Amino acid sequence: MHRLYENDDIVIFWDSDKCYHAKMCVTGSPMTFDIQRKPWIDMSLAPNPEIWQTVSACPSGALKCVYKHGIEVIFEGYNHRSVAYNGDKKIGECDYRDNGDSWLIFHTEVDSDYGGKGIAKRLVYKVIEAAEKNKKPIDATCSYAVKVLGE
Ligand code: SF4
Repeated sequence: MHRLYENDDIVIFWDSDKCYHAKMCVTGSPMTFDIQRKPWIDMSLAPNPEIWQTVSACPSGALKCVYKHGIEVIFEGYNHRSVAYNGDKKIGECDYRDNGDSWLIFHTEVDSDYGGKGIAKRLVYKVIEAAEKNKKPIDATCSYAVKVLGE
């Protein structure tokens, strides 16, 4: 399962398949990570340095994080895409085809001025997360999305 969690400054990527329950997250920031709670990650309850440090200590790579740099990524199901915005300016998108019983990501692109900020991964995760919530198997022909799915 792939999920995104975020507050004003940080985005966490969560890939449950990688977790081997070492529990460094729940001991590192117990207010943020609580496996008895739904959703189990709440980023409003601890300071950012504590959250960042805890995610960085995840030994499996199930948790990863990036700074948002003021970029918002939203899912636009009616357009079959996720989109990244810097204010009103669209600076990236990830497009998928709805084949009825499955989704296929075929294009991911971020404006070159915004490279190295994890925006492409946020875009792809946004689509994967939506596919999983809609119970649609997801695949990709876009090479970047293939890499994210295979990580
Ligand atoms: S620290 Fe990482 S591997 Fe350990 S329980 Fe948390 S998510 Fe799973």
